[in-house]
Amino acid sequence: MTTYAIQPAAPVTLPIEGTDKVFPVARVFCIGRNYAEHAREMGHDPDREPPFFFMKPANAVTTTGQFPYPPGTSDVHHEMEMIVALAKGGRDIPEDKALDCVYGYGVGLDMTRRDLQGEAKKLGRPWEIGKAFDYAAPCSGLKRAADIGHPVDNRITLDVNGKRRQDSTLNKMIWSVPETIAYISRYFELLPGDIIMSGTPEGVAAVVKGDTLVGEVEGVGRLEVVVV
Ligand code: MN
Repeated sequence: MTTYAIQPAAPVTLPIEGTDKVFPVARVFCIGRNYAEHAREMGHDPDREPPFFFMKPANAVTTTGQFPYPPGTSDVHHEMEMIVALAKGGRDIPEDKALDCVYGYGVGLDMTRRDLQGEAKKLGRPWEIGKAFDYAAPCSGLKRAADIGHPVDNRITLDVNGKRRQDSTLNKMIWSVPETIAYISRYFELLPGDIIMSGTPEGVAAVVKGDTLVGEVEGVGRLEVVVV
């Protein structure tokens, strides 16, 4: 039996609607610039620069409904996204088999220290300081694909203090869910428990302490988060 020198961290989990089980999160892959209008609002040309991915640590995932305003920044943005949770992994997964890997779906916020991310971009440095900080991924619970199928054109919205900030549909994603899974699996062996944040539509903006964020992908999930 293994004896740990220190207490190992508890697994990060997401609740699953309609079951008493929880989903253990392995890694968090995030897709950048997966909606053309968001790429444009960030100053990029989606016809010339395809989406790409980056990661957050699993322990950035939080389901408490609270987002502690992070240190070292004065420009924290919301990015409302659909989450894809994998029950199966693999390498070189073909697009037409990719959805067989999906356990379920949820919604999440890819919270971003935009000022620090911008500085990192300018200096050609990694993005972790802007994207991978503590509590940077408030998430909803999951719904099983076995129950809801695979969402394709559902509406994705985010309201801040009752005012709509983001409003789009999943079919505007440049990389579809199967394309994303196939793409990542060419570079990494995907694992059961990996989740994918599938990218944000246009309308990203700053939050301040006291804001209430309500994000929804119709038929998939709803998330309410207070900035504290
Ligand atoms: Mn994002």
